Amino acid sequence: MITAMEEALKKGKEVLHLGKVATYIPELGRANPNALAIASCTLDGQITQTGDVGTRASIQSISKIASLALAISELGEEEVFSKVGVDPTADPFNSIMRLEMRKPHRPQNPLINAGAIVVLSILPYPDSTSRYLAVLDLVRKLCGNSEIVANEKVYLSEKATSDRNRSLAYFLRSVGAMDGDIEDILDSYFHQCGIECTVKDLAVMGATLANDGINPITQEKVLSPRVCRLIRALMATCGLYDGSGEFAVRVGIPAKSGVGGGIVAAVPGKLGLATLGPALDNKGNSVGGIEAMEYLSEKLKLRVL
Ligand code: GLU
Repeated sequence: MITAMEEALKKGKEVLHLGKVATYIPELGRANPNALAIASCTLDGQITQTGDVGTRASIQSISKIASLALAISELGEEEVFSKVGVDPTADPFNSIMRLEMRKPHRPQNPLINAGAIVVLSILPYPDSTSRYLAVLDLVRKLCGNSEIVANEKVYLSEKATSDRNRSLAYFLRSVGAMDGDIEDILDSYFHQCGIECTVKDLAVMGATLANDGINPITQEKVLSPRVCRLIRALMATCGLYDGSGEFAVRVGIPAKSGVGGGIVAAVPGKLGLATLGPALDNKGNSVGGIEAMEYLSEKLKLRVL
């Protein structure tokens, strides 16, 4: 495993110059574009990691897995999928265009920004803090690490600059696609996006999803097998936004990316795989991470799609 991972790291590092760190959230612009780390966690709890494994990054859109899993667990899939669809989009993660064109005005899936914001709006918690803490608690359980917290600078940086997400949310409320206090809902969205993890944390999260909801390190039953299957299906079809099809062809594993540079992948019944590399392609996905995962998928025969 470690040899394959070191080779994958080399492949990934070779393409880092093709990517750029996200700067539309100013604090993310401080990330090191040359960093890349890879980790895996098998279902019997063995962790292997290489590269810049000390790097921490905000999980950004990877947090949408946790808020969605929480919503399905607490409200049921029927209720959640009456508010957001389950179809991939060919549009960027923060696109507003389709929301107006599609009738009813329902976000196309829960892993784009509009969908994730609607999912947060229906969670049965009274305010931003309780909503955020519930998502944080689930992220900690998925990763088996109770010390995970948000990077408050990243959270506040996004909160101060996110006109785009504000536009999405106010538009959605204006057409009846969501209700509630928009600023309060967005506050929990920005806060969950700022949750910070290492590549090892992300690999354990992937392993929990691959293991039908049982964390292979803590043995805790974090999610039901049904919820895990739904999440993996959405990861496979929508997890890398408008890059999901290409990722399915190149890597063939259900995965979710975030603009902090993380990618979490779940090979059902086998292992969790994660990469962390903040240099992104033009769709907001880690260039080095995709390259490394493609290599590992081929080398270790991990493809399931
Ligand atoms: N917080 C980010 C945003 O709303 C998440 C996007 C991502 O990771 O793809 O723009």
